[in-house]
Amino acid sequence: MIPISKVAFGPEEEDLVLEVLRSGTIAQGPRVAELEQRFADAYEMKHVVAVNNGTTALIASLIAHEIGEGDEVITSPFTFAATLNAILDVGATPVFADIRADDFNIDSTLVESLVTPKTRAIMPVHLYGQMADMTSLAATAEKHGLVIIQDAAQAQGARHQGIAAGATHTATFSLYATKNMTTGEGGLISTDDDKVAERLRILRNQGMRARYEYVMTGYNWRLTDLQAAVGIPQIERYETNVGIRSANAAFYAEALKNSLGIILPTVRPGNEHVWHQYTLRVTDDAKVTRDEFIDQLTSQGVGSGAYYPRAVYDYEAFRNHPLVGVPHCPIAEVVASQAVSIPVHPHLTPEDLQTVAEKVLHVAGSAA
Ligand SMILES: *Cc1c(COP(=O)(O)O)cnc(C)c1O
Repeated sequence: MIPISKVAFGPEEEDLVLEVLRSGTIAQGPRVAELEQRFADAYEMKHVVAVNNGTTALIASLIAHEIGEGDEVITSPFTFAATLNAILDVGATPVFADIRADDFNIDSTLVESLVTPKTRAIMPVHLYGQMADMTSLAATAEKHGLVIIQDAAQAQGARHQGIAAGATHTATFSLYATKNMTTGEGGLISTDDDKVAERLRILRNQGMRARYEYVMTGYNWRLTDLQAAVGIPQIERYETNVGIRSANAAFYAEALKNSLGIILPTVRPGNEHVWHQYTLRVTDDAKVTRDEFIDQLTSQGVGSGAYYPRAVYDYEAFRNHPLVGVPHCPIAEVVASQAVSIPVHPHLTPEDLQTVAEKVLHVAGSAA
């Protein structure tokens, strides 16, 4: 089976983990601080605060920006459940702006019409490794005095007009096992706001500013030095890995150009994509449905995934939620019924790539 994602570490991670084990400091300590600093340096960020996972990073960011009950947050309907769960967790009301079909991201031209006196934040999701139109979103936010919290869980190192995800405003990253960089579980928050950064550091450590100086109610949201030791060496290798992901995506763009009824992913002008996922749209013109496509690829030894099979509000847990209501985002609903991601990770061999392309053409059909 060619897997949709693969975790592989080098001797640098092994050495650093062993060093931390032998140091005796395994909970949050100097390695977490080092991970934060290196991440900030790599992507021109002012402050980086590590937490225990990407979902916590979203919740903590909302709380640090004092967003809660009665506040509206405009977000994308085409995302992982964590984005919506975080908004609901703080008691805020999600408002969905439909996506663009070409880049799968929130359509920034729809956001302004959704702003009300209750709107506090825009939470774009940089899906699959490509950034939403931050230039336009930043202008809307500026005009209406809104906060931007970028869900950049899939977009470490992605750029829009040369500016990295998280280099401006506030942004959250995930270090979960399937992400481009991983510590098993883990999260990072970047912010250009000094007050927000201070609140985040206090919130993650029981509301404590200095030892036993509790200034707010807090949590235990700390990352560990053991996890940081797994992450630190990956920062240096990251650009190389993204280069391989990009080359793999370029291979598919050529190899799959004559596929029948399949729409290939595109990079919008001004964007640098980090190819967390390479996502196809299986349309009605293909020989098979999206679900048949996935099943047949699986039986031919190619892993794939529907990320995500429905618009995020269209699941049992959210359908009857009083804060969700009955949103209707027709583009997100259609795209969610078509999306299939195929393996693009850096551990694919040239033979793997060839096999994946052949199987996709075989299952979907080929026009040439
Ligand atoms: C992975 C992911 C998250 C959540 O991150 P965890 O570390 O798994 O909690 C949030 N949003 C998006 C878009 C993600 O892909």
